[in-house]
Amino acid sequence: MTKPLTISAEPSEPFLARRTLLKGAAAAVAATGVTVNATLAASVAPLGQTGAPTRSTAPLPLGPLPGSRYPDSHLESAKKGPPSFGPPGFPAFAGTMAVERVATGFRWAEGPVYFPAGRYLLFSDIPNNRIMRFSEDDGHLSVYRQPSMNSNGNTIDREGRLITCEHSGRRVTRTELDGSITIIADKFNGKRLNSPNDAVVTADGAIWFTDPAYGIGGFYEGIKADPEQEKKNVYRVDPKSGEVKVVVDDFVEPNGLAISPDEKKLYICDTGFTDGPDNPSHIRVFDLDVAGGKVSNSKVFADMPKPGITDGVRCDTEGRVWCSVGWGDTNEDGVRCYTASGELLGKIHIPETVANLAFGGQQRNRLYICGSTSLYAVYTSVQGAMKP
Ligand code: MG
Repeated sequence: MTKPLTISAEPSEPFLARRTLLKGAAAAVAATGVTVNATLAASVAPLGQTGAPTRSTAPLPLGPLPGSRYPDSHLESAKKGPPSFGPPGFPAFAGTMAVERVATGFRWAEGPVYFPAGRYLLFSDIPNNRIMRFSEDDGHLSVYRQPSMNSNGNTIDREGRLITCEHSGRRVTRTELDGSITIIADKFNGKRLNSPNDAVVTADGAIWFTDPAYGIGGFYEGIKADPEQEKKNVYRVDPKSGEVKVVVDDFVEPNGLAISPDEKKLYICDTGFTDGPDNPSHIRVFDLDVAGGKVSNSKVFADMPKPGITDGVRCDTEGRVWCSVGWGDTNEDGVRCYTASGELLGKIHIPETVANLAFGGQQRNRLYICGSTSLYAVYTSVQGAMKP
């Protein structure tokens, strides 16, 4: 159960200096943004929270999806070809496998990230203001962090540390190996970020993140507020100086992002369609200059079937692009897989709207899928480009 908490009503007061290393008791307080400015002690607002999940008497069944038979019909190849052993040309097919629901009972799941050292997956349950942990060894599910400041996207850096985007914190944080939390970015140009959504880390340690306004649009997935940033940007945090710079500023709603395994391409989802029917619902690809900290040569990589959108994207070691699909035609709910040149290879059909996905497993060949109220997993015949 979420404890009642308060935060400052004055967002421009920086209680916590950026990149402050928070330790011990101070970390426990600051990690949740719980603090009271002495000069504003009389004006605090409750931290956004939602009632605990309803205990269902008929939860969705765990295990292989109902009606599964090998080869699993939830996998659909986009390739036309002669009958073959499984969907032709679609690398999701590992043969003796099926799409499984491995956990359920969330209000809205996003931001999966796999920790190889612990063999567990973390992911956000945004409205419930918590980060969940799914342990791969015995399927155990537990709460990793609550309140999570309505965290959304999570990723892991090359040193195995958790990077988290927070809606109500309006910041990007790093959980250090000792459990303390470092604020990586909470402002640009002296103004608060909107609501960081998703992040990736390049090998040089730079953190790239998107900053749409979804997390401040209401009181369900964050705390309602007016944006302070003029635009919804994609940012890069310099690994040495900590400086936050704009990488791209022409997205309607920048959302999920991923980097190709050779670090030469950056993929970014634009879910601007949520703001109006003429706005984009697609993935753009850029040439990435990691050393220079910039991108160029923007192209539309893949259009999504409106009114569906793609919220999350990941690459495998061969450079294929895997993305979520949801909010539109139920027949499109799930995952799509494209070649690096943008050719659709196939789909994984999931019985819920899908937001985000991440490769995991000891062999990096298990695709975890955050689908609304449930976590799904499917073994594939490829490996994710995840690091470490
Ligand atoms: Mg997202």
